Amino acid sequence: MEKKQFQAESKRLLEMMINSIYTQKEIFLRELISNASDAIDKIYYKALTDSALVFDNESYMIKVVPDKQNRTLTIRDTGIGMTAEELENNLGVIAKSGSLAFKKEHESKDGHDLIGQFGVGFYSAFMVADEVTVVSRALGSDQAYKWESTGAEGYTIEPVERAEVGTEIVLKIKENTEDESYEEFLEPYRLKSLVKKYSDFIRYPIKLDFSGK
Ligand code: ADP
Ligand code: MG
Repeated sequence: MEKKQFQAESKRLLEMMINSIYTQKEIFLRELISNASDAIDKIYYKALTDSALVFDNESYMIKVVPDKQNRTLTIRDTGIGMTAEELENNLGVIAKSGSLAFKKEHESKDGHDLIGQFGVGFYSAFMVADEVTVVSRALGSDQAYKWESTGAEGYTIEPVERAEVGTEIVLKIKENTEDESYEEFLEPYRLKSLVKKYSDFIRYPIKLDFSGK
């Protein structure tokens, strides 16, 4: 399978994330939950004008599922999903290079941790994961696709099976090092408090599924 390269700006942001210049790694969860919520919003707003589409509150949710044995953390949503093209365009490039420039400029000026006040987005996943897999099926499509990346080397996209519309992000959580702890992001109490701290205002249910190992 052909490995595609990230665009230059994306690559820079990605490298920053991988090398974790940013100390508050925990915000990755806020970013992924906010993307999941945005994706559900998109169905919600579509349903307002599309009578063929029914927004049934019960079926829209975000799930956070740690699996200690496999060292994965999964964030699953029943949102609008992404086509292969959208996976390519949305995850392969950084849409907000403008805000990245803004962040850097202001950070150096007053030494403040301004980055935390802006969305750092999807790539923040690479602060805690050495591999990120996104499986997504777009609304109106029968075909799902898998986007996969270990970071700097680029990413691959291939067709896969998925029964439902929506997106699943699987983070292969990094191993702890002498000075950095990552495995805490597989701990139920830690995830619970992060959801409370950063995602309390999200208007869809966030279900913490701790049934797994
Ligand atoms: P932002 O949310 O500010 O646009 P992100 O880096 O967080 O930037 O996400 C980039 C894009 O990837 C989003 O705008 C969206 O189009 C797409 N995306 C990310 N996560 C999801 C998801 N769970 N469902 C659908 N689309 C997503
Ligand atoms: Mg976002």
